[in-house]
Amino acid sequence: ASGYTLLRDPHHNKGLAFTEKERDAHYLRGLLPPSVSTQELQEKKLMHSLRQYDVPLHRYVAMMDLQERNERLFYKLLIDNVEELLPVVYTPTVGEACQKYGAIFRRPQGLFISLKEKGKILEVLKNWPEKSIQVIVVTDGERILGLGDLGCQGMGIPVGKLSLYTALGGVRPSACLPITIDVGTNNENLLNDEFYVGLRQKRATGQEYAELLDEFMLAVKQNYGEKILIQFEDFANHNAFELLEKYRKTHLVFNDDIQGTASVVLAGLISALKLVGGTLADHTFLFLGAGEAGTGIAELIALEISRKTNSPVEETRKKIWLVDSKGLVVSSRVESLQHFKKPWAHEHEPVKELLDAVKAIKPTVLIGTSGVGKTFTKDVVEAMASFNAKPLILALSNPTSQSECTAEEAYTWSEGHAIFASGSPFGPVEYDGKVFVPGQANNAYIFPGFGLGLIMSGTIRVHDDMLLAASEALAAQVTEENYAKGLIYPPFSNIRKISAQIAANVAAKAYELGLASRLPRPKDLVKFAESCMYSPIYRSYL
Ligand code: NAP
Ligand code: MN
Repeated sequence: ASGYTLLRDPHHNKGLAFTEKERDAHYLRGLLPPSVSTQELQEKKLMHSLRQYDVPLHRYVAMMDLQERNERLFYKLLIDNVEELLPVVYTPTVGEACQKYGAIFRRPQGLFISLKEKGKILEVLKNWPEKSIQVIVVTDGERILGLGDLGCQGMGIPVGKLSLYTALGGVRPSACLPITIDVGTNNENLLNDEFYVGLRQKRATGQEYAELLDEFMLAVKQNYGEKILIQFEDFANHNAFELLEKYRKTHLVFNDDIQGTASVVLAGLISALKLVGGTLADHTFLFLGAGEAGTGIAELIALEISRKTNSPVEETRKKIWLVDSKGLVVSSRVESLQHFKKPWAHEHEPVKELLDAVKAIKPTVLIGTSGVGKTFTKDVVEAMASFNAKPLILALSNPTSQSECTAEEAYTWSEGHAIFASGSPFGPVEYDGKVFVPGQANNAYIFPGFGLGLIMSGTIRVHDDMLLAASEALAAQVTEENYAKGLIYPPFSNIRKISAQIAANVAAKAYELGLASRLPRPKDLVKFAESCMYSPIYRSYL
């Protein structure tokens, strides 16, 4: 290939880092200015220019440009500056990018499969240039973050998630495939926007929807085999639960909004036990929000307690309560409840308001997963602090504007007693002369390592016990030093090490359950996980 082509190939381009010898060998003379740079210097220069932008969206666009220009440098930046760049390539900035910039995605970063491709999905998959795919992240754009239906503009989500699979979990970029399924949108603004790039129709539902997804799932397995991991992302809950239930028996599927969230939150709870004492079984849980995140977390907590105490989940669910938009989920409502809420309809008189539910249930742990901001009011937090020495408060709704309360509010209103973590990041808070560092229950702790564990062991089905294994591995990474600041999650700076630990624990569980196909089992799974990880360091082309 010509030097010119090489410079335009993001998988191989090194820009100014091509050495003198490489410039001679690959016809690059004259196509680059004379200076030769190192990857470190390029990284320094790019970080410097990124920091010049005040508008987060500009940083996002600059990162996407870099990914299209020089893939290894993109990942080097992301890995080395993970705490700074995660909010740029993922939440919260990616949400804004989907809202405002959906129409400007210039080059294909993933596959669009719309109703127009019905009957031809296998052919569409073959149009993607890479053949050995290991992970697909797929969305239908109906519930993008907390932002609702963004139709085909949701593509930013699978693209962003997969860049984290590579940066945090070490899955090769060429093995990752972002897919957006477009069955229309119910977002009127988009339907009326002359620049909207998706199908201009209301969402297909029922049989039409089911058939497209069936064809898709079949084609994926046909094209990539039994071990392809399919991560469902940001589907509306009425489809998310059904798709997971339907395909978990035939495919290697994982829903990050349900299972990934559950695993990361459970990890935080297990680690918080070090601060609040007791076991999970000693606690009472109250959720605001009984959707994908809420019921997913609740189910995994119940499973963990059930495994630890050797009692049936029907029993362990009883100390877990949920509030939805109609109030406390109770047995008198059972007829009209969506099926995923039914297991939580315990015996209790109806309660409408969260504050009253808090007073009635007296939870030790309060978890917000409703997507509605400012719902953990001063009264609610004060009530939690009135009957708990150390109330555990998790405000998980994203983005920041939807957080149930801020870190500062949680610490202030509880007079410094709360143990707090949130979905969106908050900075450290000083209260009464002490500095509290709130943890972030970010799904990015779990899914990259979880996926790596599945891939490296050749696992063919996801089992809930693997989620517990992931939670336990993550909780074990929290240090005394972290606890001293009130943190229940480890810092992100060590995320690749953490991912390797999670991957190893997940793989170990897969082998134990007989679901792993990579035989023989590697002796040291942590070492093996690390050896599987993609490195962004430039290679020599001589
Ligand atoms: P979802 O499936 O749509 O569920 C939302 C739930 O909240 C529903 O049960 C809904 O009630 C309830 N709700 C809505 N408004 C309410 C109100 N005013 N009062 C009480 N309950 C209300 O959404 P999801 O996927 O679970 O996500 C929910 C939130 O969690 C989002 O903001 C998301 O960003 C966040 N999240 C965070 C993390 C994380 O921190 N790692 C992970 C995943 C999700 P009905 O059922 O009655 O409609
Ligand atoms: Mn999601």
